[in-house]
Amino acid sequence: MSFELEPAYLKLQHEARVFARSIEPLAKEADESSEVHPGVLAALRKSGLCGLMVPAQHGGRSTRPDPLAICLVREALMATSSHADSLFALQGIGSYAITVAGSPEQRAQWLPRIARTEALAALALTEDNAGSDLKAVATELRVSDDRLVLKGSKSFISNGVSAAFFVVFAREGSGYSMVLVPAATPGVSVTPSPILIAPHVLGEIRFDNVLLPPDARVGKVGQGLELVLATLGIFRVSVAGAAVGLAQAALEEAVRHTRTRVQFGRPLAQLGAVAEMLADSHTEIEMVRLLTYRAASRAIDDPAAALHQSSMAKLAASEIASRVVDRCVQMMGRFGLIRHSKIERLYRQARAMRIYEGASEVLRLGIARELVRQVP
Ligand SMILES: Cc1cc2nc3c(=O)[nH]c(=O)nc-3n(C[C@H](O)[C@H](O)[C@H](O)COP(=O)(O)OP(=O)(O)OC[C@H]3O[C@@H](n4cnc5c(N)ncnc54)[C@H](O)[C@@H]3O)c2cc1C
Repeated sequence: MSFELEPAYLKLQHEARVFARSIEPLAKEADESSEVHPGVLAALRKSGLCGLMVPAQHGGRSTRPDPLAICLVREALMATSSHADSLFALQGIGSYAITVAGSPEQRAQWLPRIARTEALAALALTEDNAGSDLKAVATELRVSDDRLVLKGSKSFISNGVSAAFFVVFAREGSGYSMVLVPAATPGVSVTPSPILIAPHVLGEIRFDNVLLPPDARVGKVGQGLELVLATLGIFRVSVAGAAVGLAQAALEEAVRHTRTRVQFGRPLAQLGAVAEMLADSHTEIEMVRLLTYRAASRAIDDPAAALHQSSMAKLAASEIASRVVDRCVQMMGRFGLIRHSKIERLYRQARAMRIYEGASEVLRLGIARELVRQVP
């Protein structure tokens, strides 16, 4: 049993860290914008990292998307720029249903462009009245003559205002289906979502009786929920990776500050309560990093079986990131409160992670249910 990353993962981690450092000068501006930042997008495209999101057969970098590789990249990107992290993550989250269940034509049309970051992807699940309760969606897909018709609206969709296509989760008959809708299709309209405390590229999408060809479904009729679960199987744990990166970046800011700022004749880092906060944060980050890497490496072979651990990793990492960044602000005193400083940005960015891709409370329900089922 080894707890060390294998050489190929260490190499990728190094590549992602070098890339993250290269975009550091753009991060402040990009992370405060609700639009895609052209500089970060161009750099991400040049890096080739989005090739990790697509099978090699369609222009990607590995046989299939590897959750541990994706985790490592998100950890490095999030430590520098939530915008870069989000652009990277969405290329996978928005296209994975096509990878696993798309038709040969859908795969050939979109996946190579996703790998090259020439088209931005989006996964549209959430609606005004359907957040955690995904089955409450009202968007409807129906067959009319030889066409599919999509009617409804989606809310808070990452990349919404910039995506080339949406993979849309909709009610169809008594079940749920996924359908691929190019953004330029007549009847599709997009407006920006409200600006968040930590800005994010988000859109509100309307589908006004959008006519689609009969082969626009991704997968079969009624396969929608299964494809959402498949996507979570690979990508939920990657939110944990990003949260670990955020927590580590916050802790490093606090270390740099507290080892040089002197109060009561000593660096803050040596004062009891501050040393305690540094030590607790360091320990919690290490704990959750291990949990995250383990869940991610289990998800490589069997994403569905690993989902329980991925949920635990996402829950723990996002909660710990919030706790760590809060302590870091505390340790930095008034300097932790300066608007648009790195620590203040991380403080705001941590908050959303406990809500998207499964709110903590909803994850706890699932984790408890599985625990009760497992104990003999
Ligand atoms: C930055 C960002 C990006 C996003 N990107 C996308 C995207 O790309 N695509 C997409 O489809 N959606 C996206 N979303 C939406 C996101 O998926 C939802 O916000 C999330 O599913 C939670 O839904 P909600 O916000 O409607 O909260 P609600 O479902 O209204 O829940 C509110 C709170 O109630 C509690 N709660 C809910 N259900 C339960 C329960 N069963 N038991 C106990 N407590 C409960 C939790 O505390 C929860 O935080 C994004 C959101 C954000 C913030």
